[in-house]
Amino acid sequence: MNLGALATGPTRHLDVVVIGAGQAGLSSAHHLQRLGFGGRFVVLDGGAGPGGAWRHRWPSLTLGRANRITDLPGLPLPSELGEASPDRPAAMVVQEYFEAYERHFDLPVRRPVRVRSVRPRADGRLVVRTDDGDWTTRVIINATGTWDKPFWPTYPGRESFAGRQLHTADYRSRDDLAGRAVVVVGGGASAVQLLIEVAAVASTTWVTRRAPVWREQFTPEIGREAVALVEQRVAKGLPPGSVVSVTGLALTDDVRAAMGRGVMTALPVFDRIVPDGVVWDAAPHPGRPTPPRHLAADVILWCTGFRPALDHLAALQLREPGGGITMVGTRTARDPRVHLVGYGPSASTIGANRAGRAAAVAVRDQLRQPVASRT
Ligand code: FAD
Repeated sequence: MNLGALATGPTRHLDVVVIGAGQAGLSSAHHLQRLGFGGRFVVLDGGAGPGGAWRHRWPSLTLGRANRITDLPGLPLPSELGEASPDRPAAMVVQEYFEAYERHFDLPVRRPVRVRSVRPRADGRLVVRTDDGDWTTRVIINATGTWDKPFWPTYPGRESFAGRQLHTADYRSRDDLAGRAVVVVGGGASAVQLLIEVAAVASTTWVTRRAPVWREQFTPEIGREAVALVEQRVAKGLPPGSVVSVTGLALTDDVRAAMGRGVMTALPVFDRIVPDGVVWDAAPHPGRPTPPRHLAADVILWCTGFRPALDHLAALQLREPGGGITMVGTRTARDPRVHLVGYGPSASTIGANRAGRAAAVAVRDQLRQPVASRT
């Protein structure tokens, strides 16, 4: 794409640019507004409408089935949108909620505006280049989530598969997969939800790298343990890693019922993909059910997660040799002008709320002095 051609219009100059208007971006914007930044910041959001990643969730993920919709700060989910409508798609409810939130606090959200790059400028400011022109700013709060970066692992023969391959991000309805032989790959909450749903209309096989660990209850302690583990990784400059490895998977009534139907047996992941299915070559996997040598498949559903959508920050060279980004609070260690919210330990709705507040407070304190361009 020719970005030069896209970047039309006058360059605008502000103190803070928030990138992304999901849970993390709106929390940041709310706290900036509350701290008196009105008129000094903008929120640039690539979405076609409000709701962040929730806009894209499949319609069968109803409010009653979503783990929980966490309130945004300062305006709880209105009850007419919340408990009253457990059967409505969560995507729709959250869009309505976020829209009402943006209006209520008169947040300066501009969309659809996609940020293509953020680059340092000689005078210490950052240039935010978008498909709707440029902004310059003293700091950015990046809140771009993960939805835009689905992760497809590499397995030998993947391109040779003659059937259909889709990712959680592409999934819309189980009806698209009715009557097919479907291999569901992945050990996270999305894999479990989609497996149960698809198994009602298709023949499914579930494959996971590790044997699933089921949890009867999700306590705040487990949550804290998960966050602490991710914090340790991020402090070492490593990629944040998977939360499920710490929290385990929720043993819900749906899961129990599916176990009773024999749907939840998790085989080890296949070794390679062939045109008509998947193949296990390796020796037995201790403690795991024995897979067949070859399994015919029409569809591979990759529920293999997402990665932080940070490509637009590449020019800032924030990454450590370990591949992660070291953080000091919400600031990146390599460039104090850049805050990441909803990243690493704050990549959950509750974490995003807290990080939004922390980032706004840090930005206020930071902008009282000239901002150092790099540490
Ligand atoms: P997002 O909601 O992804 O918002 C990011 C925003 O940034 C988007 O609007 C996007 O368009 C925009 N953006 C991205 N790149 C750019 C760019 N370059 N320029 C401009 N804008 C950009 N949490 C729960 O609490 N309950 C649940 O039941 C639940 N279910 C989940 C199910 C799935 C399948 C997944 C993947 C996650 C689920 N989560 C759930 C987690 C929750 O959705 C996330 O923690 C939360 O949405 C993250 O919010 P965010 O603001 O960080 O990112």
